[in-house]
Amino acid sequence: MQQEAPGGEALEVWIDQDLCTGDGICAQYAPEVFELDIDGLAYVKGADDELLQAPGAVTPVPLPLLTDVVDSAKECPGECIHVRRVVDQVEVYGPGAE
Ligand code: SF4
Repeated sequence: MQQEAPGGEALEVWIDQDLCTGDGICAQYAPEVFELDIDGLAYVKGADDELLQAPGAVTPVPLPLLTDVVDSAKECPGECIHVRRVVDQVEVYGPGAE
């Protein structure tokens, strides 16, 4: 089931691995959502905690973790964490946000 942000909007997050520096900040902020793979790059995790190893894989943002995910996007040195609305795919946090 999709979690919803306070505005009633379900959000999802993906990482552009081409820009990931592998510093692991996201995995420190939100280890439930982000994890470094053995290739040294960060990937998102699925709902049952499995690592989604496909580049650019998307996962829902659980509401209790929204702040941690947003902070990760803000602090990400590679500027490669993208948080977008599910309904219209508009990026709301990350390098492509308004
Ligand atoms: S914070 Fe950004 S650059 Fe750093 S590991 Fe996570 S996705 Fe990669």
